[in-house]
Amino acid sequence: MIKVAIESKLPSVGTSIFSVMSALANAHGAINLSQGFPDFSMDPRMKSLVTEAMAKGFNQYTAATGLPALREQISALATECYGIEVNPESEVTVTSGGTEALFCAIAATISEGDEVIVFEPCYDSYVPVIELFGGVPIYVPLDFPDYKINWQNVKKRVSSRTRMIILNSPHNPTGSTLDAADLAELAKIVQANPIVILSDEVYEHIIFDGADHQSILRHKDLAKRSFVVSSFGKTFHATGWKVGYCIAPEHLSKEFRKIHQFVTFSTSTPFQWAIAEYMKDRSHILELRNFYQTKRDYFLDLMKQSRFEPLTSKGTYFQLMKYDQISKKGDKAFAEWLTVEKGVATIPVSVFYHSGEDNKVLRFCFAKENSTLEKAAEILIRL
Ligand code: PMP
Ligand code: GLN
Repeated sequence: MIKVAIESKLPSVGTSIFSVMSALANAHGAINLSQGFPDFSMDPRMKSLVTEAMAKGFNQYTAATGLPALREQISALATECYGIEVNPESEVTVTSGGTEALFCAIAATISEGDEVIVFEPCYDSYVPVIELFGGVPIYVPLDFPDYKINWQNVKKRVSSRTRMIILNSPHNPTGSTLDAADLAELAKIVQANPIVILSDEVYEHIIFDGADHQSILRHKDLAKRSFVVSSFGKTFHATGWKVGYCIAPEHLSKEFRKIHQFVTFSTSTPFQWAIAEYMKDRSHILELRNFYQTKRDYFLDLMKQSRFEPLTSKGTYFQLMKYDQISKKGDKAFAEWLTVEKGVATIPVSVFYHSGEDNKVLRFCFAKENSTLEKAAEILIRL
C-alpha cells in the first residue's frame, strides 16, 4: 500500500490555544479560567425544553436556513435591541455556532488575493478561513492598553483590494467595546469602497457599566453591507449546544446560505426548538449583563490583594491582567507555569498576534461559580 499524503492547506496552523490550555488544565487538575465557558449550569427549563422537543417529535431535519420559529424570535430580538427590521425569511440564517457563521461569511466573500482587515489581538478563527480561500489578512493593532481602534491606521491600510473588515465587539480576548463614534468612523471609511463588514457580536448581551452594545445593526447604512454573527452559547450558558446565527441583507444571506447548506445543511432541530420556546421570555437575555458584571466585579475584588494589574473589561466574560510585577517570563511560559506549578489555567494574549507581540498579559475567564473564582484568587494573590 502506498502512503497517500495531502498538502496542508493551513501549514502554519496548530491546535487552538483553547484546546491546548484546557487539556493542560485537565492533565494537571488546574482550575480552568482559560477556555471561555461557564462552569455553572444553564436554566433547568432550557434542558427540559430539549427533552420536550424530542418527545414532541422534532427530531428530523428542519429548514436549512433554520427553524422558522427561531428565525422569527431572532428577528424580533434584533428589532427590540437595535431598532432594525429584519426579515426572518430572507435575512436570518441559523448556524451550528457562531464559528460556522464566521466561516460561511468569509467563504462567501473572499477570493484569491482579496485583502481582509483584522484587528489584533485577533480571535483565532478568522485568519485561517481567510487564508483557506486565498485571502490576505491585513493586521491592524488595537491600541494598548485600552485596545481601541485607531481609525487613522485603518484608513492607511485600506486599498483597492480590501474586500472585508472584521470587527468583534465586545471583544475577545480584551473586553474592549466599540462605541457609536467608532461606527461613524467605519462608515466614513467604507462609504465609497466595495467593502463587506463581518461583525462578530457573540457577546452582544454581555456589556457592562450601563453601556449599550453598539451593534452594526443600529447603523442602517453599515447594516446594508454586513454579516452580523451571534451565538446562543454565550447568551444561554450553553457553549456546547453550538447554535448561532447570522443576520445579513438578502443579497448577502443568499450567498451565505449557499455555503451553509453544504457545511451543515441544518442545525440540530430540538435545540433550535428549545431556544425558540425559551426566547419567548426575554428576561434571561436582559439580565445577562448584570449577572456577568457582578461576576467581573467579584473577581476584581478578590484580585485586589494580588500583584496582577487588571486592564479594563467593558464586556464579554473575560478579564485581562498584567503580571509584569510577578514574573519576567513571556506570557506563554508564564501561563504554562501557572497551570502546571500553581494550578490555575489562563490564556496568554500573545497568541492572538501574528507577530507574537507580548505585553505580559493573561486572559482570565470569570464565567465561573464564585467558589471557583475564590479558589483561583486564593492561589493568585500569593504570587
Ligand atoms: N467569536 C468569538 C469572539 C468567540 O469568543 C466565540 C466563542 N468562544 C465564537 C466566535 C464562536 O462561537 P460558537 O461557540 O457559538 O461557535
Ligand atoms: N471562544 C472561546 C474562548 O475564547 C473558546 C472557543 C473554542 O474553544 N473554540 O475561550
